[in-house]
Amino acid sequence: MPRKQRKIKEDLNLNHIVSQQFDQAAALMNEPQGLLEKIKKCDNVFQVTFPVKIGNKIKHFVGWRAEHSHHRKPLKGGLRFSPLVNQDEIMALAALMTYKCALVDVPFGGSKGGVAVNPRELEVRHLEQLTRRFTVELLRKNFIGPGENVPAPDMGTGEREMAWIFDTYDTFHPGEIDNMACVTGKPVTQGGIRGRREATGRGVQFGIRQVFQHPNEIKALGLDPGLAGKRVAIQGFGNVGYYAARFLSEQDDCKIIAIGEHDGVVSNPKGLEIAKLFKHRKIHGSILDFPGAKSIADPQAVLETECDILIPAALENQITLSNVDRIRTKILAEAANGPLTPQAEKKLLKRGVLVIPDIYLNAGGVTVSYFEWSKNLAHIRYGRMGSRLEESRGEHLVKYLEATGGKPISGPSRDVLLKGGKEADLVNSGLEGTMVSAYEEIRGVYRRRRRVPDLRTAAYIVALQKVATALRELGIFP
Ligand code: NAD
Repeated sequence: MPRKQRKIKEDLNLNHIVSQQFDQAAALMNEPQGLLEKIKKCDNVFQVTFPVKIGNKIKHFVGWRAEHSHHRKPLKGGLRFSPLVNQDEIMALAALMTYKCALVDVPFGGSKGGVAVNPRELEVRHLEQLTRRFTVELLRKNFIGPGENVPAPDMGTGEREMAWIFDTYDTFHPGEIDNMACVTGKPVTQGGIRGRREATGRGVQFGIRQVFQHPNEIKALGLDPGLAGKRVAIQGFGNVGYYAARFLSEQDDCKIIAIGEHDGVVSNPKGLEIAKLFKHRKIHGSILDFPGAKSIADPQAVLETECDILIPAALENQITLSNVDRIRTKILAEAANGPLTPQAEKKLLKRGVLVIPDIYLNAGGVTVSYFEWSKNLAHIRYGRMGSRLEESRGEHLVKYLEATGGKPISGPSRDVLLKGGKEADLVNSGLEGTMVSAYEEIRGVYRRRRRVPDLRTAAYIVALQKVATALRELGIFP
């Protein structure tokens, strides 16, 4: 049963929260006030009410697309289907997209969209009608297009919805060769890219790994260096939470001791088997009653699990003044957007918790979306021309080394030498490189500049500096 939270007065408006985070970083920067104001303000927001025929009734839905910054084009950002969506939230998420893209050097401006709907309450055919109609509304106002604005999946949407969006856009732009680049996160068979589905969760894994590349900083948190054996609790077993859980447990030997969903929590101090839990949910419609695990009816309980790494990967405003004193983790890794309020964050930082900020940690999705968009414009799969050439070079190298060394090369070294870069390898290596260098850039600012209090402020400073440079170079029209 969801527990009644003790309500403590706190501003939970995400737009105000992002604005506060911006101000904290901007105050430490040496940029003209007018330029900083230009970066902070949202350029434009489109709101639409549109009808969908459901059975013999006509229902009305409200949708938004916010365009935060046009300093780079196209603009990019997810599309959210949730009953909780509202304009302020969409504007805030669009701003986060601008900062996120700048941070990981993805050449897009920030945007975000949403429709106030609970997708679980609609039949698939009605969801398709809704998605297509909303796409047409975006199209009418020039809020979608390969060079204008490119949506992607977010909460409540996935590959299926992205394919509908592409098909609708394509219908209205016959004969235009770049239509596929109007949306990312499509199925691989519809111009998607291998690795996009997993990208945000994988980016979370790469980001956490990079934090652990600094053993003294991990020891300072009271943890042993190395990810193996670390106790991880995750809120949300959707796209981001599921892949983060899988990769951290299967590739880094973390123990996923608790997973929370909208209807409750499953926990096991020895670690949950993530692939099996995924199958269990598919069959039974819920993660609860997973064999060998304890089930708890209160979804919020996952946040209070004693653990080394807590990963909120569901909704915003999950850790607030109402529950922050019960949070028992050393690292808070923000996979979701805006899961922690500024006042709760202050308390965690005071207790020495390391907060890995959302604008960095969940940037894997937009990074691989960028790869997909550029693949669509190139009209060729990455690795298609070079992969065989690399393999044949590898074969020559192995033969040469075996001949000169006098013994056969076997095992993983042989596999590495003989492997040509396929699309999935190239995507993952591009993503890893991006997450590694972005973290080091943020960490550099945090460690070198005495007045920068935390990683989030450092991440904002890195991002805002890049946007400021772009805007200064472009000038103000006319
Ligand atoms: P999703 O819809 O695939 O998954 C969200 C999951 O959270 C669902 O399984 C849902 O049932 C669960 N959930 C809902 N309410 C909950 C509650 N009270 N407690 C626990 N679980 C609850 O969405 P997603 O794409 O995984 O996105 C999750 C978060 O990550 C969002 O904040 C989103 O903005 C952010 N994000 C996603 C991407 C992406 O590529 N999908 C990229 C960047 C950031």
